[in-house]
Amino acid sequence: MKLEDILQSDVWNVDEEPHIVVDYTKCEKCPAKPCIYLCPAGCYTLAGDRIVFSYEGCVECGTCRVICPMDAITWNYPKSGHGIIFRFT
Ligand code: SF4
Repeated sequence: MKLEDILQSDVWNVDEEPHIVVDYTKCEKCPAKPCIYLCPAGCYTLAGDRIVFSYEGCVECGTCRVICPMDAITWNYPKSGHGIIFRFT
């Protein structure tokens, strides 16, 4: 089973306030941009050479917090009752 198939069984209660904040001024200076390759939910994408981040589909794995070489990410879990609700099939 593909990761995309597994994620489709989950649901999100998205908070209006992002639980992850990205400092794009630091991203601009990052040559590797590992977040676009390692986020399992595809929350980080490139628009030209700029990072675009969308927190809504985050699976709260913490990978981006660990691998960001620029310390550009302020990471918190979503507020209680928000974020991903895992469904196991
Ligand atoms: Fe992606 Fe995981 Fe970071 Fe969420 S915590 S944005 S799923 S790498």
